Amino acid sequence: MSIYLYNTLHHRIEEFKPLKKNKVGLYTCGPTVYNFAHIGNLRTYVFEDFLKRILRYNGYKIKHVMNITDVGHLTDDGNSGEDKMEKGSLREGKTAWEIAEFYTREFRKDIEELNIIAPDIWCRATDHIKEQIHLIKKLQKRGYAYATSDGIYFDTSKLSDYGKLANLQNQDLRGGARVEVGDKKNITDFALWKFSPKLQKRQMEWESPWGTGFPGWHIECSAMATKYLGQPFDIHCGGIDHIPVHHTNEIAQSEAAYDAPLANYWLHGEFLIIAGDKMAKSGDNFLTLQVLKDKGFSTLAYRYLLMQTNYRKQINFSWEALKAAQTGLQNFYKELSHLKERLPNFDKSNPAQMETKKQAEEEFAKKINDDLDLPGALALLHTLLKTKDAIDFDTVLKFDKVLGLKIAENAKIVNEKMTADEQATLPDHIERIIIMRDAVRSQKDWAKSDQLRLQLENFGYKVEDTKDGTKVSKN
Ligand code: AMP
Ligand code: ZN
Repeated sequence: MSIYLYNTLHHRIEEFKPLKKNKVGLYTCGPTVYNFAHIGNLRTYVFEDFLKRILRYNGYKIKHVMNITDVGHLTDDGNSGEDKMEKGSLREGKTAWEIAEFYTREFRKDIEELNIIAPDIWCRATDHIKEQIHLIKKLQKRGYAYATSDGIYFDTSKLSDYGKLANLQNQDLRGGARVEVGDKKNITDFALWKFSPKLQKRQMEWESPWGTGFPGWHIECSAMATKYLGQPFDIHCGGIDHIPVHHTNEIAQSEAAYDAPLANYWLHGEFLIIAGDKMAKSGDNFLTLQVLKDKGFSTLAYRYLLMQTNYRKQINFSWEALKAAQTGLQNFYKELSHLKERLPNFDKSNPAQMETKKQAEEEFAKKINDDLDLPGALALLHTLLKTKDAIDFDTVLKFDKVLGLKIAENAKIVNEKMTADEQATLPDHIERIIIMRDAVRSQKDWAKSDQLRLQLENFGYKVEDTKDGTKVSKN
């Protein structure tokens, strides 16, 4: 079945065609590890996880690379401002290296808790300085780089199609009267290598053919993506804020160096906002996964909330919406646990049932392959659950490979909890029969025990003999 994706590069939905049969090379921009990830950042990683799971569902083998930005990302996302890592180091009185290590570990915990499948390759910018210097040298040799007083810059005017990803127009590119260009030739030119300040020793700096310093932010992704996936590779992802600067510049430098596209498909996730405002790593809007957990929410409830909106639409986060998602998810698990009890698996020799199941699975695939229509797929699943015998538990587990809601274990937990609840609130006459039955069983009076079992069943209970005695659950 074909998969359709919105490709930012061509500003339209396109059928996905991989470079190699059944294989996908995927690069997703990773975290800048100077602080915890906020739940907005995490929305982007959940969207990328859905993409990955959908590709897997369609039989593709994925090679997924994610970078860890542990140097070079400046506070204004451009060429000026402080280095975010040095800022984190000052804030916490630790070295930049310690900060990077701590927040990388925290990030990995976050994604595990959201049931995000980990990348196959994690790569740190600081482990790939050699590759970045090599790429800059190549750009210099080809005439795309020039020196200013504070670094080596990429000359964006040398590319006729610079800005194609964001549809930037030419007039946006040149330095104008109102914009501070400094030593740069064009406003959109960006740093490939920044020199360390003359009178100050940075914590993270390296020797290079141009002087001591550190790489610019964009060059790390170009260098590492190409190293692990080749060029071109299939899909590159990130949040929408990366379209006009970070990804635009990755494309510029990689294409200038290798005369080939960097990636064939570019997918971008919309923002999570809060009270109409951007979520930022400072201020009241900085919500981490831990804050959600402290308020009693499960991390999978957050995942469930995210899948109710298409990745190309903004989500306005609210506690009410998260609460509704948490309740909705619990009810969903309950419904599924009933399905498990009622209809664990279809009888494979029943052609009519097998046909309904097949159709349901095809419809689900059609939804997810339509530019990751998770809300549609979820709605379909809810409808199927309401339709008698449309699907069995086996199909639900198959769908969960995409949803990632850990249905098998959670439906079981809910089921056990429901049984415990029922056990705790049994009517008196049922309690009495259970006590009586346990007593006759201890005297090995099996005939009487069977009689009492029948009585319980007639009251609508399923009876189970356990090492703790008679257990009942409502049919
Ligand atoms: P950073 O750690 O700042 O480099 O960001 C990590 C990822 O989160 C990037 O792909 C960003 O595009 C994305 N991102 C940043 N803010 C938000 C937000 N409010 N909602 C969704 N994604 C975001
Ligand atoms: Zn990147």
